[in-house]
Amino acid sequence: MPGLRPMPFRSTLSFRLCRDARAYLRASVVRRLLVFLAVALPLVWLVVAHERAQLGNVARDESYRNVKNLAHAFAEEVRSSIVTIDLSLSQLRLGWLRNPEQFGAIVAELNTHLQGHLHITLIVTDPQGQVLFANAPHAPRLNLGDRDYVQAHLKEDAGDRLFIGKPLRGRLSGRQTVQFSRPIYGDDGKLAGIIIAGVAPGYFSRFYDTMDLGADASIALVRADGVVIGRTTQSLTMRDSGKLLPGAPYLVSGKTGGTFQRVSRLDGVERHYGWRRLSEYGLAVTVGQAVLDANARYAQQKQLLVYIGLAVSLLLVLAGWAVFAAADQHRRGVASLAAAEARWKLALNATGEGVWDYSFTNRMVTLSPSTQGIVDAEGTLLPFGRSAFAAMAHPEDAHAVLHALYAHLQGATPDYTAQFRTRLGNGNWRWILVRGQVAERDGMGQPLRIVGTVADIDARKLQEEQIRHMAHHDVLTGLPNRLLFGDRLRQALLAARREEHKLAVIFFDLDKFKPVNDSYGHAVGDVLLQQVATRLHATLRASDTLARLGGDEFVVLLPRVSDTADARKVAEDILRELHRPFMTEGFSVSISASVGVAVFPDCADDTDTLLRCADAAMYQAKLQGRGRVAEHAASKRALAVPAHAERLAA
Ligand code: GH3
Ligand code: MG
Repeated sequence: MPGLRPMPFRSTLSFRLCRDARAYLRASVVRRLLVFLAVALPLVWLVVAHERAQLGNVARDESYRNVKNLAHAFAEEVRSSIVTIDLSLSQLRLGWLRNPEQFGAIVAELNTHLQGHLHITLIVTDPQGQVLFANAPHAPRLNLGDRDYVQAHLKEDAGDRLFIGKPLRGRLSGRQTVQFSRPIYGDDGKLAGIIIAGVAPGYFSRFYDTMDLGADASIALVRADGVVIGRTTQSLTMRDSGKLLPGAPYLVSGKTGGTFQRVSRLDGVERHYGWRRLSEYGLAVTVGQAVLDANARYAQQKQLLVYIGLAVSLLLVLAGWAVFAAADQHRRGVASLAAAEARWKLALNATGEGVWDYSFTNRMVTLSPSTQGIVDAEGTLLPFGRSAFAAMAHPEDAHAVLHALYAHLQGATPDYTAQFRTRLGNGNWRWILVRGQVAERDGMGQPLRIVGTVADIDARKLQEEQIRHMAHHDVLTGLPNRLLFGDRLRQALLAARREEHKLAVIFFDLDKFKPVNDSYGHAVGDVLLQQVATRLHATLRASDTLARLGGDEFVVLLPRVSDTADARKVAEDILRELHRPFMTEGFSVSISASVGVAVFPDCADDTDTLLRCADAAMYQAKLQGRGRVAEHAASKRALAVPAHAERLAA
């Protein structure tokens, strides 16, 4: 559709891949985190629950310890109170027996002694329960024969013992009282009456105020038959007197004291109870602490444990997220590194290059498979040092390579490149191109690691050599061409000038070569030119240079001659060689040449002039009839430069 350009396929794909990869990684982080939390969080909360249970146990044990100790103390206080009451009863009984008329005064005196700490309602009855004395005001003449204490003392085997009656509302006092009674025996040893001390149950509640067991604490004084003498809680002061507590553990236990936990039958509060038996009086005391109050002391610690649990959970979530995200980041990094490495390897493989990695720490080089092939090495990890390098590098190249390497190691160059010949296993040399860069340095800047590539450039070098050769040589004969000859002539001239000796240039052109071409064909002419080159090359000295300037023109450089005659002799040798017939393509061809000789510094003192002089001399030889040698006139001023020579010099 015109105007709507589709997004390039590659960018669409890479965008989708990136988005999918990110979503996958996020999902994998969340999944791993959830698995981790599913294991870790229950453990955390298990520990929290355990510690909370431990605190609960500590609270319970502490509560039991407290109620047990307090029950003990309460029992002692009750005992001491009862002893006091019983002692009072015994003394009053004596007073009654001695002088019943004065008994009221005695009772009043006793109450004075007690200073209001213990208010006793004192009654004396005859054996049938008829009240004989009561310290209550306006006491009617009552009969208490139906009271349990009267019944108890009337029993034949009752004996002289203290009886603690069921708490009742006193008929005289009108208040709830607990009756402590003892029998009164006459001189005949028979029951003459009963003396009764009525005490308000609240008397026993004093102990409650000395305790610190929380709002719902309780104390109780209970008779062995389960009848509550008195019970005090925060809201009630010995108000449950007379109620029955069936099945309480202290009623059925054979022990003298203990602890238990139960929901109170009287107020529904669950408590830890400590109890103590007062066997001699058929009583038991209990001290209770509400379970909630006992736990309240550790409630803060328990709450703190929950906060710690929450904090640790949060920490685990955050730390887990951080760790898994970091791990994923790392994995992603490794994956992208691997991908990059794969791309890099692919690229290198495509170029045919190899990789190497040298560690200065252990002096070991790691070679990729391609590198091993290029340098003809066996093994991936090899020891490498100066001697190994000297063994592999061509002696002519080694110095330059090391120079470039050291310059880079010292930081003078951003990277390092060197071309050198390396020795192969079969003894041949191969040109390689090595590139490298320091990848790691220590704190002092010393290189620790250098990595790089290596490429086989042997073919390229050969090609370069061929191109260079072609640029300087004649294709047909393989002889140096005009360019190379010019170079050599310049060098030779410099040397001759420096060392003050002579040199000569011999210029020759084949005579009537064109007819050879015409008669035998161009190919024969070519072969003839090649044979000329070969024959003369063999005749001349190695230090001489024979070059083909073009067509059938050749030139010879004699870098050192003593004089013109010396040069002429060589020119005549050349002519003689050329006069010998050539066998070309089955034809015997005879040729000759016209040869011109010019000597430095006699004829000229620069290359171009010298060459023109030789050409001019050759031209003279042509003019003189060909097949001969002509010397250029020694006088430089007399030099006549023909048009033909101008062309050559160009
Ligand atoms: P002269 O005696 O005056 O030198 O006459 P010539 O026939 O030798 O002719 P000239 O030197 O003026 O020209 C050289 C000839 O050489 C021209 C050409 O036909 C021939 N020639 C030039 N280059 C080549 C070549 O590469 N191969 C062959 N076969 N012949 C060539
Ligand atoms: Mg010619």
